[in-house]
Amino acid sequence: MRVGVIGTGHVGLVTCVALAEIGHDVVGVDRDQERILKLQDGRAPFFEPGLEPLLEKGLNQRLLAFSVEPESAVADREVVFICVGTPPRTDGQANLVAIESAAREVARAASGELIVAEKSTVPAGTADRIHRTIALEHRSSRNGIEVVSNPEFLREGTAIEDALRPSRILVGANSPRGHEVMRRLYAAAIDAGSPLVETDIRTAELAKHASNAFLALKISYVNALARVCERTGADVDSIADVMGFDPRIGRAFLDAGLGYGGFCFPKDLQAFERLADSVNYDFPLLREIRRLNDQAVEAVFDNVEDGLWNLEGKRVALLGLSFKPGTDDVRLSPSLALARRLIDAGATVAAFDPEAMMAAKEELPELELASDVFGATNDAHCVVLCTSWPQFRNIDLDLLKEVMAYPMVVDGRNMYDPAEMGARGFTYYPTGKPPIR
Ligand code: NAD
Repeated sequence: MRVGVIGTGHVGLVTCVALAEIGHDVVGVDRDQERILKLQDGRAPFFEPGLEPLLEKGLNQRLLAFSVEPESAVADREVVFICVGTPPRTDGQANLVAIESAAREVARAASGELIVAEKSTVPAGTADRIHRTIALEHRSSRNGIEVVSNPEFLREGTAIEDALRPSRILVGANSPRGHEVMRRLYAAAIDAGSPLVETDIRTAELAKHASNAFLALKISYVNALARVCERTGADVDSIADVMGFDPRIGRAFLDAGLGYGGFCFPKDLQAFERLADSVNYDFPLLREIRRLNDQAVEAVFDNVEDGLWNLEGKRVALLGLSFKPGTDDVRLSPSLALARRLIDAGATVAAFDPEAMMAAKEELPELELASDVFGATNDAHCVVLCTSWPQFRNIDLDLLKEVMAYPMVVDGRNMYDPAEMGARGFTYYPTGKPPIR
């Protein structure tokens, strides 16, 4: 099928390469000219495992093209995806300006029949607004243009795998034609076993917010549990294992630590809160999830302070800056929140991340960046494990102890065994279990 994609960020670009990989003819557009030049050259503008080879393959097979001209993603296409950003406004509401401008671009360039698939995460009711915008802009006949909701569930770090073999494909449409076109578009994934859920548009839009808020709830729940474990001497990981054996609960997303971050959970939770407000439903649970997430960073900060006493004149090394492993995305990363907190308290903060250094430096220029783990930890009074990159599990702990000023590790992701850290002579603060002082 001939497909257009507006916005070539983490979602839009992955959508482009995944659809080209299954044989569709795809044009991606973005208003960021530098990004488009890079993409035309086969270079990915951000790190995502497996992305660049598929990008090159799609370009070579001529199934994939990129442009700054919105018309090229709309004219002669059967489906156009809207994948632009929906960042939070200061009050937490989703800012839908980019969605509206994409809708206007679609209206101006559309001629015949077209399905407009809303893939960005948006509050329920947005597809109606897109439809109305298109109707206002596109003064002639608009009968052939239909808006459907097709929320994206990919996870950064495994985005390609998720896009090629989705855990579920959700399509909200208000007509049989909308469902039929999307079924054809995703036929390969559906045949390979990905469940297809077909709903009306508002149900699909709300399902995305409901899923993200529930995942954030799991993380905040286990972090609150970690605080109780710290005060009672219990072990949060073992409790999570016990809980996880219950199929009604599941083990995923029950890892205590620095909390969630990234471009999705924090903003989607706030947008969901504002949506609930707008329909006069008081949903304090959503606020509490956020409060507990902020508290997770504070708990790790408290451990650093407990270990180091005064932070002025102390050097703290952070391992990991991206909001999770497998990505260079530092948007709303808890590591950076912790770094800011430590810098404000007078510490010098050095850091190493396998992929996210450039992005982190832009967000927080005061960070001292090192080219490897030992560059960051050299002379440090404390090391904080912030992101669970797998390579941090295999650090030479004897060497680490040797290069550090004090042998102190605060483990914000519970990557090490407390008994082993104690035996090696570290002062060790895990999360949600008793410290080894
Ligand atoms: P992003 O910021 O990485 O990318 C958005 C892109 O859209 C940018 O490149 C921007 O230049 C471009 N853009 C904005 N307005 C445009 C316009 N009018 N025409 C052309 N290009 C335009 O954002 P993202 O992470 O890809 O997220 C996009 C949406 O998908 C958001 O609503 C997000 O919540 C949702 N989502 C994100 C993820 C994720 O893991 N990042 C997962 C699921 C859903």
